[in-house]
Amino acid sequence: MLVNYEPERKGMIIGEGLFFLLIFIWGALRLKKLFTREHKQQQQQQNFLLSVTHELKSPLASVKLYLQTILKRDLNREQQQMFLSNSLKDIERLDYLVENVLLTTKLENNRFSLPKEDFNFTDVIRDVSDRLQKNFCSSQVIEPDLDDNVVIHADKFAITNVVNNLMENAIKYSPPCAKVNVELKRTSDNQLMFSVSDHGSGISDDEKKLIFNKFYRVGNESTRKTKGTGLGLYIVKTVLQKHNATIKVKNNAPTGSIFEVTFENYAS
Ligand code: ADP
Repeated sequence: MLVNYEPERKGMIIGEGLFFLLIFIWGALRLKKLFTREHKQQQQQQNFLLSVTHELKSPLASVKLYLQTILKRDLNREQQQMFLSNSLKDIERLDYLVENVLLTTKLENNRFSLPKEDFNFTDVIRDVSDRLQKNFCSSQVIEPDLDDNVVIHADKFAITNVVNNLMENAIKYSPPCAKVNVELKRTSDNQLMFSVSDHGSGISDDEKKLIFNKFYRVGNESTRKTKGTGLGLYIVKTVLQKHNATIKVKNNAPTGSIFEVTFENYAS
């Protein structure tokens, strides 16, 4: 008796064909995703190089101009002081950039561990606030509300950089002379809360997830007005991870953002 296997074979071939087609589609989609990610990373690195070059060039050019003017012109003492203090601000900007690039390089090195010591966190925040206050606005901008003498066991250089990055951002992404609140509170025996709140542009919910990525900056290079490299919050997140601390971003009312850091077992 002759059995007709044709329909069964056809079904098998169609089934196998469909299976391979699905694998092919899945592979193509994954490849597209990888290419898109790679392209995005390349673009961000390109942006980073552009902004670092700009960030290096513009303060150098301005310091050069200030010094040339002081040398060539007969300026009175007040004018000289103004030019010198502006040069100092530019040098501080350079210092901030170099510090961020250096710290990022260190954090990327797996063998590097942060050297920890006991230091007064309240004093660190107060020093950063005073320095930024002097540089940015003559009227009151930064309002610190700090518990006294909070001593933490941490890497002083890296934690100072975290405070600096959060506070510089709060000022940078706010209108001139807008108020910035800084809080440091012992919330329980071994928990510490540090927060920086501003009344600036705020951050959309979608962007909140992305801003801690390396080189990530909201908007694009051609429309963006603020200076920066996209390294600040990446450093903040990485340093805090190495200190058993977490960071949350919330909306401030009526506008702006609150960056809230919680340290666990901060004294040990
Ligand atoms: P940048 O050098 O661009 O400031 P950061 O890593 O510090 O890099 O921040 C990443 C992005 O997050 C910024 O480009 C900015 O768009 C956004 N951002 C950070 N802090 C604030 C803030 N306080 N208010 C609004 N946007 C912010």
